[in-house]
Amino acid sequence: MKHYDLIIIGAGPAGLAAGLYAGRSRLNTLMIEKQKYGGQIVITDEIENYPGCIEGETGPTLIERMVKQTEKFGVDHVFDTVTDMDFSGEEKIIRCLHEEYGAKAVIIAAGANPVTIGCPGEKELTGKGVSYCATCDAAFFEDFEVYVVGGGDAAVEEALYLTKFARKVTIIHRRNELRAAKSIQEKAFANPSIDFMWDSVVEEIRGDGIVESMVVRNVKTGELTEIEADEDDGTFGIFVFIGFKPSTEIFRGHVDMDEKGYIPTDEDMRTNVPGVFAAGDIRRKSLRQVVTACADGAIAAVQAGKYIEEM
Ligand code: NAP
Repeated sequence: MKHYDLIIIGAGPAGLAAGLYAGRSRLNTLMIEKQKYGGQIVITDEIENYPGCIEGETGPTLIERMVKQTEKFGVDHVFDTVTDMDFSGEEKIIRCLHEEYGAKAVIIAAGANPVTIGCPGEKELTGKGVSYCATCDAAFFEDFEVYVVGGGDAAVEEALYLTKFARKVTIIHRRNELRAAKSIQEKAFANPSIDFMWDSVVEEIRGDGIVESMVVRNVKTGELTEIEADEDDGTFGIFVFIGFKPSTEIFRGHVDMDEKGYIPTDEDMRTNVPGVFAAGDIRRKSLRQVVTACADGAIAAVQAGKYIEEM
Protein backbone atom coordinates (compact mmCIF):
# COMPACT_ATOMS: atom_id res chain seq x y z
CA MET A 1 0.00 0.00 0.00
CA LYS A 2 1.25 3.49 -0.86
CA HIS A 3 1.07 6.14 1.89
CA TYR A 4 0.33 9.83 1.45
CA ASP A 5 -0.43 12.85 3.62
CA LEU A 6 -3.53 13.65 1.60
CA ILE A 7 -5.66 11.85 -0.97
CA ILE A 8 -8.01 13.89 -3.14
CA ILE A 9 -10.76 11.90 -4.86
CA GLY A 10 -11.84 13.60 -8.07
CA ALA A 11 -9.94 15.93 -10.39
CA GLY A 12 -12.54 18.52 -11.31
CA PRO A 13 -12.11 22.19 -10.35
CA ALA A 14 -12.63 21.45 -6.62
CA GLY A 15 -10.11 18.60 -6.53
CA LEU A 16 -7.58 20.45 -8.67
CA ALA A 17 -7.80 23.60 -6.54
CA ALA A 18 -7.33 21.41 -3.46
CA GLY A 19 -4.34 19.77 -5.17
CA LEU A 20 -2.79 23.14 -5.94
CA TYR A 21 -3.13 24.35 -2.35
CA ALA A 22 -1.95 21.01 -0.92
CA GLY A 23 1.03 20.91 -3.27
CA ARG A 24 2.04 24.46 -2.38
CA SER A 25 1.81 23.47 1.32
CA ARG A 26 4.26 20.63 0.59
CA LEU A 27 1.74 17.96 1.54
CA ASN A 28 2.56 14.62 -0.06
CA THR A 29 -0.62 14.46 -2.12
CA LEU A 30 -2.28 11.95 -4.45
CA MET A 31 -5.19 12.81 -6.71
CA ILE A 32 -7.33 9.87 -7.84
CA GLU A 33 -9.44 10.41 -10.94
CA LYS A 34 -11.75 7.84 -12.48
CA GLN A 35 -11.78 8.79 -16.14
CA LYS A 36 -10.44 12.15 -17.19
CA TYR A 37 -9.53 15.45 -15.62
CA GLY A 38 -12.07 18.19 -15.27
CA GLY A 39 -15.40 16.69 -14.26
CA GLN A 40 -18.43 18.38 -15.74
CA ILE A 41 -16.53 21.48 -16.80
CA VAL A 42 -14.81 19.70 -19.69
CA ILE A 43 -18.18 19.46 -21.42
CA THR A 44 -18.53 23.25 -21.27
CA ASP A 45 -17.81 25.09 -24.46
CA GLU A 46 -17.48 28.59 -23.08
CA ILE A 47 -16.67 29.89 -19.63
CA GLU A 48 -17.29 33.53 -18.99
CA ASN A 49 -18.19 33.57 -15.31
CA TYR A 50 -14.93 32.41 -13.77
CA PRO A 51 -13.23 35.61 -12.59
CA GLY A 52 -10.24 36.48 -14.76
CA CYS A 53 -10.77 33.71 -17.28
CA ILE A 54 -9.26 34.55 -20.63
CA GLU A 55 -11.27 35.45 -23.74
CA GLY A 56 -12.52 32.27 -25.47
CA GLU A 57 -11.86 30.15 -22.37
CA THR A 58 -13.35 26.65 -22.58
CA GLY A 59 -13.67 23.93 -19.95
CA PRO A 60 -10.78 21.88 -21.37
CA THR A 61 -8.37 24.87 -21.65
CA LEU A 62 -9.04 25.94 -18.07
CA ILE A 63 -8.67 22.40 -16.75
CA GLU A 64 -5.45 21.82 -18.66
CA ARG A 65 -3.84 24.80 -16.92
CA MET A 66 -5.23 23.69 -13.53
CA VAL A 67 -3.72 20.20 -13.94
CA LYS A 68 -0.33 21.69 -14.90
CA GLN A 69 -0.39 23.88 -11.80
CA THR A 70 -0.88 20.85 -9.52
CA GLU A 71 1.93 18.99 -11.30
CA LYS A 72 4.24 21.97 -10.87
CA PHE A 73 3.82 21.61 -7.10
CA GLY A 74 4.56 17.88 -7.06
CA VAL A 75 1.06 16.39 -6.73
CA ASP A 76 0.83 12.75 -7.88
CA HIS A 77 -2.00 11.80 -10.24
CA VAL A 78 -3.46 8.36 -10.83
CA PHE A 79 -6.38 7.18 -12.97
CA ASP A 80 -8.25 4.53 -11.01
CA THR A 81 -11.74 3.85 -9.64
CA VAL A 82 -12.40 3.96 -5.92
CA THR A 83 -14.23 0.78 -4.93
CA ASP A 84 -14.21 0.91 -1.12
CA MET A 85 -12.73 2.76 1.83
CA ASP A 86 -12.10 2.58 5.54
CA PHE A 87 -12.29 5.88 7.40
CA SER A 88 -12.41 4.33 10.90
CA GLY A 89 -8.71 4.55 11.78
CA GLU A 90 -6.20 7.37 11.96
CA GLU A 91 -4.95 6.32 8.55
CA LYS A 92 -7.72 6.54 5.99
CA ILE A 93 -7.67 3.66 3.51
CA ILE A 94 -8.83 4.10 -0.08
CA ARG A 95 -9.23 0.94 -2.14
CA CYS A 96 -9.22 1.26 -5.90
CA LEU A 97 -9.57 -1.24 -8.71
CA HIS A 98 -5.81 -1.45 -9.18
CA GLU A 99 -4.21 -0.33 -5.91
CA GLU A 100 -4.78 0.49 -2.26
CA TYR A 101 -3.72 3.80 -0.73
CA GLY A 102 -3.44 5.20 2.78
CA ALA A 103 -3.50 8.85 3.86
CA LYS A 104 -3.75 11.00 6.96
CA ALA A 105 -6.58 13.00 5.39
CA VAL A 106 -8.97 12.68 2.46
CA ILE A 107 -10.81 15.27 0.39
CA ILE A 108 -13.87 13.97 -1.44
CA ALA A 109 -14.34 16.02 -4.62
CA ALA A 110 -16.05 13.46 -6.85
CA GLY A 111 -18.63 15.91 -8.22
CA ALA A 112 -22.04 15.21 -9.66
CA ASN A 113 -23.51 13.51 -12.75
CA PRO A 114 -26.43 14.29 -15.06
CA VAL A 115 -29.89 13.14 -14.02
CA THR A 116 -31.59 10.94 -16.61
CA ILE A 117 -35.25 11.14 -17.69
CA GLY A 118 -35.78 7.49 -16.74
CA CYS A 119 -38.19 6.77 -19.59
CA PRO A 120 -38.22 3.62 -21.76
CA GLY A 121 -35.68 3.74 -24.57
CA GLU A 122 -33.47 6.40 -22.98
CA LYS A 123 -30.74 4.07 -21.79
CA GLU A 124 -30.71 1.94 -24.93
CA LEU A 125 -30.45 4.99 -27.20
CA THR A 126 -27.85 6.91 -25.19
CA GLY A 127 -25.03 7.72 -27.60
CA LYS A 128 -27.42 6.87 -30.46
CA GLY A 129 -29.28 10.16 -30.45
CA VAL A 130 -29.70 10.69 -26.71
CA SER A 131 -26.95 12.82 -25.20
CA TYR A 132 -26.11 14.64 -21.96
CA CYS A 133 -23.31 16.74 -23.45
CA ALA A 134 -23.83 19.27 -26.22
CA THR A 135 -20.13 20.08 -26.53
CA CYS A 136 -19.39 16.39 -27.07
CA ASP A 137 -22.19 15.54 -29.50
CA ALA A 138 -23.55 18.71 -31.14
CA ALA A 139 -21.42 18.23 -34.25
CA PHE A 140 -23.20 14.94 -34.99
CA PHE A 141 -26.41 16.93 -35.47
CA GLU A 142 -25.19 19.44 -38.03
CA ASP A 143 -28.35 20.46 -39.94
CA PHE A 144 -30.56 17.99 -38.05
CA GLU A 145 -33.38 18.77 -35.62
CA VAL A 146 -32.65 18.49 -31.92
CA TYR A 147 -34.74 18.57 -28.77
CA VAL A 148 -33.43 19.81 -25.44
CA VAL A 149 -35.12 18.54 -22.29
CA GLY A 150 -35.10 20.87 -19.25
CA GLY A 151 -35.62 24.52 -18.41
CA GLY A 152 -32.67 25.44 -16.19
CA ASP A 153 -29.45 27.32 -16.99
CA ALA A 154 -27.80 24.25 -18.47
CA ALA A 155 -30.71 23.36 -20.78
CA VAL A 156 -31.13 26.87 -22.15
CA GLU A 157 -27.40 27.57 -22.52
CA GLU A 158 -26.85 24.28 -24.28
CA ALA A 159 -29.88 24.90 -26.52
CA LEU A 160 -28.27 28.20 -27.57
CA TYR A 161 -25.02 26.39 -28.28
CA LEU A 162 -26.82 23.71 -30.28
CA THR A 163 -28.29 26.34 -32.63
CA LYS A 164 -24.77 26.67 -34.07
CA PHE A 165 -25.16 23.13 -35.42
CA ALA A 166 -28.78 22.00 -35.61
CA ARG A 167 -31.24 23.57 -38.05
CA LYS A 168 -33.90 23.71 -35.35
CA VAL A 169 -33.77 23.36 -31.56
CA THR A 170 -36.91 22.73 -29.48
CA ILE A 171 -36.80 23.05 -25.72
CA ILE A 172 -39.16 20.62 -23.99
CA HIS A 173 -39.94 21.88 -20.49
CA ARG A 174 -42.29 20.42 -17.92
CA ARG A 175 -43.65 23.84 -16.87
CA ASN A 176 -44.70 26.93 -18.80
CA GLU A 177 -41.83 29.10 -17.61
CA LEU A 178 -38.11 28.56 -17.61
CA ARG A 179 -35.99 28.24 -14.49
CA ALA A 180 -32.89 29.62 -16.25
CA ALA A 181 -31.48 33.05 -15.36
CA LYS A 182 -33.34 35.90 -17.07
CA SER A 183 -30.30 36.96 -19.12
CA ILE A 184 -30.01 33.44 -20.57
CA GLN A 185 -33.78 33.25 -21.19
CA GLU A 186 -33.69 36.53 -23.13
CA LYS A 187 -31.08 35.15 -25.50
CA ALA A 188 -33.15 32.02 -26.09
CA PHE A 189 -36.40 33.89 -26.72
CA ALA A 190 -34.58 36.16 -29.18
CA ASN A 191 -33.10 33.24 -31.09
CA PRO A 192 -35.25 32.33 -34.13
CA SER A 193 -33.84 28.78 -34.23
CA ILE A 194 -35.27 27.94 -30.80
CA ASP A 195 -38.85 26.71 -30.28
CA PHE A 196 -40.52 25.69 -27.03
CA MET A 197 -42.82 22.83 -26.04
CA TRP A 198 -44.27 23.91 -22.71
CA ASP A 199 -45.82 21.73 -20.00
CA SER A 200 -44.36 18.65 -21.63
CA VAL A 201 -42.36 15.60 -20.57
CA VAL A 202 -40.73 12.83 -22.59
CA GLU A 203 -42.53 9.53 -21.98
CA GLU A 204 -40.66 7.21 -24.33
CA ILE A 205 -37.82 7.29 -26.82
CA ARG A 206 -38.07 4.89 -29.75
CA GLY A 207 -35.73 3.66 -32.43
CA ASP A 208 -33.92 0.65 -33.77
CA GLY A 209 -30.26 1.36 -32.94
CA ILE A 210 -30.81 5.11 -33.43
CA VAL A 211 -33.42 7.62 -32.21
CA GLU A 212 -36.33 7.61 -34.65
CA SER A 213 -39.18 9.04 -32.60
CA MET A 214 -40.26 10.00 -29.10
CA VAL A 215 -43.52 10.25 -27.24
CA VAL A 216 -44.16 13.50 -25.37
CA ARG A 217 -46.97 13.99 -22.85
CA ASN A 218 -48.60 17.31 -22.12
CA VAL A 219 -48.78 17.32 -18.33
CA LYS A 220 -51.84 19.62 -18.29
CA THR A 221 -54.02 17.86 -20.88
CA GLY A 222 -52.52 14.37 -20.72
CA GLU A 223 -52.29 14.40 -24.51
CA LEU A 224 -49.60 12.16 -26.01
CA THR A 225 -47.76 13.28 -29.14
CA GLU A 226 -45.35 11.16 -31.11
CA ILE A 227 -42.55 13.23 -32.61
CA GLU A 228 -41.07 11.44 -35.59
CA ALA A 229 -37.79 12.08 -37.33
CA ASP A 230 -37.95 13.99 -40.58
CA GLU A 231 -38.07 11.41 -43.37
CA ASP A 232 -34.88 12.62 -45.05
CA ASP A 233 -32.97 12.85 -41.73
CA GLY A 234 -34.14 9.51 -40.31
CA THR A 235 -33.17 10.66 -36.81
CA PHE A 236 -32.93 13.63 -34.44
CA GLY A 237 -31.05 14.49 -31.26
CA ILE A 238 -32.37 14.52 -27.70
CA PHE A 239 -30.17 16.46 -25.29
CA VAL A 240 -31.12 16.01 -21.65
CA PHE A 241 -30.26 18.71 -19.07
CA ILE A 242 -32.53 18.17 -16.09
CA GLY A 243 -30.05 18.62 -13.27
CA PHE A 244 -27.39 16.60 -11.58
CA LYS A 245 -27.01 14.06 -8.83
CA PRO A 246 -23.96 13.77 -6.60
CA SER A 247 -21.48 10.94 -7.13
CA THR A 248 -21.77 9.81 -3.54
CA GLU A 249 -23.04 6.23 -3.80
CA ILE A 250 -19.62 4.76 -3.03
CA PHE A 251 -19.30 6.96 0.09
CA ARG A 252 -22.66 5.93 1.54
CA GLY A 253 -22.20 4.58 5.08
CA HIS A 254 -18.70 6.13 5.30
CA VAL A 255 -19.72 9.81 5.66
CA ASP A 256 -23.04 11.46 6.41
CA MET A 257 -25.11 12.66 3.46
CA ASP A 258 -28.47 14.36 3.08
CA GLU A 259 -31.63 12.91 1.54
CA LYS A 260 -30.46 13.93 -1.97
CA GLY A 261 -27.06 12.32 -1.44
CA TYR A 262 -25.08 15.55 -1.03
CA ILE A 263 -22.44 15.62 1.72
CA PRO A 264 -23.01 18.27 4.40
CA THR A 265 -19.89 20.02 5.67
CA ASP A 266 -19.11 22.91 7.98
CA GLU A 267 -17.62 26.09 6.52
CA ASP A 268 -14.16 24.51 6.70
CA MET A 269 -15.32 21.64 4.45
CA ARG A 270 -15.18 19.11 7.31
CA THR A 271 -17.55 16.16 7.01
CA ASN A 272 -18.79 14.33 10.10
CA VAL A 273 -15.65 12.13 9.96
CA PRO A 274 -12.46 13.72 11.36
CA GLY A 275 -9.81 13.95 8.64
CA VAL A 276 -12.36 13.58 5.82
CA PHE A 277 -13.30 16.73 3.93
CA ALA A 278 -15.64 17.34 0.97
CA ALA A 279 -15.39 20.01 -1.72
CA GLY A 280 -17.25 21.12 -4.83
CA ASP A 281 -20.54 19.95 -6.33
CA ILE A 282 -20.70 16.86 -4.12
CA ARG A 283 -21.21 19.09 -1.08
CA ARG A 284 -24.55 20.42 0.17
CA LYS A 285 -24.40 24.08 -0.89
CA SER A 286 -26.38 26.81 -2.60
CA LEU A 287 -24.26 27.58 -5.66
CA ARG A 288 -22.48 24.99 -7.79
CA GLN A 289 -20.06 26.81 -10.06
CA VAL A 290 -16.35 26.54 -10.94
CA VAL A 291 -15.58 29.49 -8.72
CA THR A 292 -17.32 27.98 -5.69
CA ALA A 293 -15.80 24.53 -6.36
CA CYS A 294 -12.30 26.07 -6.43
CA ALA A 295 -12.98 27.99 -3.24
CA ASP A 296 -14.14 24.78 -1.53
CA GLY A 297 -11.03 22.96 -2.72
CA ALA A 298 -8.70 25.64 -1.39
CA ILE A 299 -10.40 25.68 2.01
CA ALA A 300 -10.47 21.88 2.24
CA ALA A 301 -6.75 21.59 1.46
CA VAL A 302 -5.75 24.23 4.01
CA GLN A 303 -7.95 22.62 6.67
CA ALA A 304 -6.63 19.15 5.80
CA GLY A 305 -3.11 20.55 6.28
CA LYS A 306 -4.06 21.90 9.71
CA TYR A 307 -5.67 18.59 10.65
CA ILE A 308 -2.50 16.68 9.67
CA GLU A 309 -0.28 19.13 11.58
CA GLU A 310 -2.36 18.67 14.72
CA MET A 311 -2.49 14.86 14.50
P1 NAP B 1 -31.43 22.91 -12.57
O1 NAP B 1 -31.19 24.37 -12.39
O2 NAP B 1 -31.74 22.08 -11.40
O3 NAP B 1 -32.60 22.78 -13.66
C1 NAP B 1 -33.11 21.53 -13.99
C2 NAP B 1 -34.22 21.72 -14.99
O4 NAP B 1 -34.69 20.45 -15.38
C3 NAP B 1 -35.40 22.48 -14.39
O5 NAP B 1 -35.94 23.33 -15.35
C4 NAP B 1 -36.37 21.35 -14.02
O6 NAP B 1 -37.70 21.72 -14.14
C5 NAP B 1 -36.07 20.31 -15.07
N1 NAP B 1 -36.29 18.95 -14.59
C6 NAP B 1 -35.83 18.39 -13.43
N2 NAP B 1 -36.19 17.10 -13.35
C7 NAP B 1 -36.91 16.84 -14.46
C8 NAP B 1 -37.54 15.69 -14.97
N3 NAP B 1 -37.52 14.52 -14.31
N4 NAP B 1 -38.19 15.78 -16.15
C9 NAP B 1 -38.22 16.93 -16.83
N5 NAP B 1 -37.62 18.06 -16.42
C10 NAP B 1 -36.98 18.01 -15.25
O7 NAP B 1 -30.20 22.18 -13.27
P2 NAP B 1 -29.13 22.71 -14.33
O8 NAP B 1 -29.74 23.58 -15.36
O9 NAP B 1 -28.41 21.50 -14.74
O10 NAP B 1 -28.15 23.57 -13.45
C11 NAP B 1 -27.50 23.00 -12.28
C12 NAP B 1 -26.74 24.10 -11.55
O11 NAP B 1 -25.67 24.58 -12.39
C13 NAP B 1 -27.63 25.31 -11.27
O12 NAP B 1 -27.25 25.84 -10.03
C14 NAP B 1 -27.29 26.26 -12.39
O13 NAP B 1 -27.49 27.63 -12.02
C15 NAP B 1 -25.81 25.96 -12.62
N6 NAP B 1 -25.44 26.30 -14.01
C16 NAP B 1 -25.04 27.57 -14.23
C17 NAP B 1 -24.70 27.97 -15.51
C18 NAP B 1 -24.26 29.38 -15.69
O14 NAP B 1 -24.24 30.14 -14.74
N7 NAP B 1 -23.88 29.80 -16.85
C19 NAP B 1 -24.78 27.05 -16.57
C20 NAP B 1 -25.23 25.76 -16.31
C21 NAP B 1 -25.57 25.39 -15.01
P3 NAP B 1 -38.39 22.75 -13.09
O15 NAP B 1 -37.89 24.09 -13.51
O16 NAP B 1 -39.83 22.54 -13.32
O17 NAP B 1 -37.92 22.32 -11.73
